[in-house]
Amino acid sequence: MQDAQLLGVVSGPPEAPRLAYLNARLPVSDALLKAAEPVPAIKVMRFAARCEEQKCTHFDGSNCTLAQRVVSMLPEVTEMLPPCVIRSTCRWYRQEGRAACMRCPQIVTLADMGDETKRRVAQPES
Ligand code: SF4
Repeated sequence: MQDAQLLGVVSGPPEAPRLAYLNARLPVSDALLKAAEPVPAIKVMRFAARCEEQKCTHFDGSNCTLAQRVVSMLPEVTEMLPPCVIRSTCRWYRQEGRAACMRCPQIVTLADMGDETKRRVAQPES
C-alpha cells in the first residue's frame, strides 16, 4: 500500500487489545517488519496507509464502510483523543470525527474472530 507507516504497537491482553500510538512517522521497511520476528508483524503492529478508495472492499463509492461499522457497532474505549500523528490525513477521522478516534485503540489487524461483533465489523457488507 502507498505511504504505509507504523501507526502503533499492540498492547494489552489478547481479549482486549489496545494500540499504543507512535508519536512520530515511521515508514514501513524491511527492518521494521523484521523487528517483530519471530511473530508476524501484523500480529503486534498496526499500519496506516493512504486510503485506496475504489480498490478497497470497504469503500462504497463515497464512504469507508469499515469506519461506519466501527462507530456504529463498537464501544468507545478511551475518554481522550489518542495522540495520533495521522489525524490530519485520516479518512476515518475526516468521515466520522472524534467518534472514530474514541474507538480506534481497540482495532488491531489480527482481531479475535471468535468475537461475533468484531467479525461483523470487519466483514464488508457485500
Ligand atoms: S481514527 Fe483517529 S486515532 Fe484512529 S487513526 Fe484515525 S485519526 Fe488516528
